[in-house]
Amino acid sequence: MPDIWDFLRTARQEWPLRPVPERVQDWHEVHAPGRLLPIVEEQASRCMDCGIPFCHHACPLGNLIPEWNGLVARDDWRQAAERLHATNNFPEFTGFLCPAPCESGCVLAIDDAPVTIKAVEAALASRAWAEGWVRPQAPERLSGKSVGVIGSGPAGLACAQQLTRAGHTVVVYERDDRVGGLLRYGIPEFKMDKDFLDRRLDQLAAEGTVFRTGMDVGGKVDAGALMRRHDAVVVAVGSTAARELPVSGRELAGVHQAMEYLVQANRVQEGDYDRPPVSAEGHHVVIIGGGDTGADCLGTALRQGAASVVQLDIKPQPGVDRADDEPWPVHARVHRMSPAHQEGQQLVRDGAVLAGDSSGLPQQEALRDVRVFSAATVRFQGDADGRVKSLSLADAETGTRRPLPGTERTIPVDLVLLALGFSGPENPEHGLAEQLDLRTTPAGAFARDAAYSGGRPGVFVAGDAGRGQSLVVWAVAEGRAAAACVDAYLSPRGVTSLPMPVVPGDRPMAL
Ligand SMILES: Cc1cc2nc3c(=O)[nH]c(=O)nc-3n(C[C@H](O)[C@H](O)[C@H](O)COP(=O)(O)OP(=O)(O)OC[C@H]3O[C@@H](n4cnc5c(N)ncnc54)[C@H](O)[C@@H]3O)c2cc1C
Ligand code: SF4
Repeated sequence: MPDIWDFLRTARQEWPLRPVPERVQDWHEVHAPGRLLPIVEEQASRCMDCGIPFCHHACPLGNLIPEWNGLVARDDWRQAAERLHATNNFPEFTGFLCPAPCESGCVLAIDDAPVTIKAVEAALASRAWAEGWVRPQAPERLSGKSVGVIGSGPAGLACAQQLTRAGHTVVVYERDDRVGGLLRYGIPEFKMDKDFLDRRLDQLAAEGTVFRTGMDVGGKVDAGALMRRHDAVVVAVGSTAARELPVSGRELAGVHQAMEYLVQANRVQEGDYDRPPVSAEGHHVVIIGGGDTGADCLGTALRQGAASVVQLDIKPQPGVDRADDEPWPVHARVHRMSPAHQEGQQLVRDGAVLAGDSSGLPQQEALRDVRVFSAATVRFQGDADGRVKSLSLADAETGTRRPLPGTERTIPVDLVLLALGFSGPENPEHGLAEQLDLRTTPAGAFARDAAYSGGRPGVFVAGDAGRGQSLVVWAVAEGRAAAACVDAYLSPRGVTSLPMPVVPGDRPMAL
């Protein structure tokens, strides 16, 4: 039985990871199986059930975190799983993938280690599936209305599930050959098992959601025809137009966008290739970009057997503690070590992989990290066959990010992966925007009003397509909220009982 003093008596304990040499030999989840359940009740008992739970406010889904922490600590897992699913359609997606702004906002984090909220969520979701508590929830009666959802990432899936359960007939149209969006072809298997996605898709299908793949709406498939077939249409096409690096040598063979590379690596896991057309095996790899996508390229390159890896980040290295302008409960930019970075660090230390040519990269030597901060790429040089052979970089001036004169050096490379972020939905000339009268915001996303409505009447925009590249937790929250707006639009009296956890203008907690 938990007691109110547990937060003082019990230290935070992380969910152990599998040893690096073992996990880089395969594509399975990085966490050690069976090692979470024995510690999770004690960890949940650290929760203080705060009067004002900032964890809950920091979560876009408004997850009922103190409630399910308390129930887990009291060994009432079934009720806890019910409360978990009350606000989140796919808690295993967030339990495994979320960077956990809730933990940054946890009141314990003011002067101690926060509650392991994400691990409790992952454990609860896993147990709910294992016990058979997650069942299809087909609607009791149909509304007679139908909705087309374009895009099957987490936003489209959450929206489709909410609307199907509300009694509408929902068809999800997906351009790719498989359903799942970035959960399927962007995020590597070692971060979340694709079976987790597949069993949710089975649940949605059993509830009545229909999936149609190979449907490029606005391209081969006319969006206007979709409007005539359905009473409302939700655009949840993501934000995957990749940013470019306009430097000399960009056109050389061996320089690829990260998403080209990650999609191929994911397709190997799906059984489409034995070996991907672009592989890091035996190559000297430079990843340009310090975000999540870059880290996913790193973990992938290490598993493919890269000879050396360097990751360049144009931003300065953040401190280990919060900066003064990012106090608690803000999800601060601090120096984080993802599992892929830990793998890179250990393999470099053990000599299994080189951290590239470390000449002129002093901070990397000290940290034995594959990351180089404040690094601006100046140009690529190619060989006689037009293949990239080296990269010139310089220290980036803080603020302007311009290369500082006199700091330029060259490192050898034969595979470059560009992970510079995304500017908005792909290809603005694509027929989708024109056929649905969608406008693009100055930031590059599709415009919508406070009720997620954008373009022609009956058209709604959800997820990264409207918010810009974000997180799975925001995509699920937006999918749920857009579903509430669609349900109200379809209801004769304009009302809905579906939850609306976020409005389009909501942003992560900040000062
Ligand atoms: C490499 C990578 C790693 C990431 N890792 C994490 C992470 O660890 N944790 C986290 O929280 N977030 C992560 N993110 C961000 C997260 O994946 C996204 O924020 C989230 O997937 C957005 O969901 P969405 O449904 O809006 O769009 P998406 O997941 O992008 O799905 C959009 C779907 O629409 C389809 N589509 C596009 N155009 C059309 C069309 N014309 N017709 C039909 N279908 C169309 C696409 O094929 C795609 O399936 C990562 C992103 C990337 C790129
Ligand atoms: S802020 Fe932390 S301690 Fe307080 S209720 Fe949330 S998880 Fe529990």
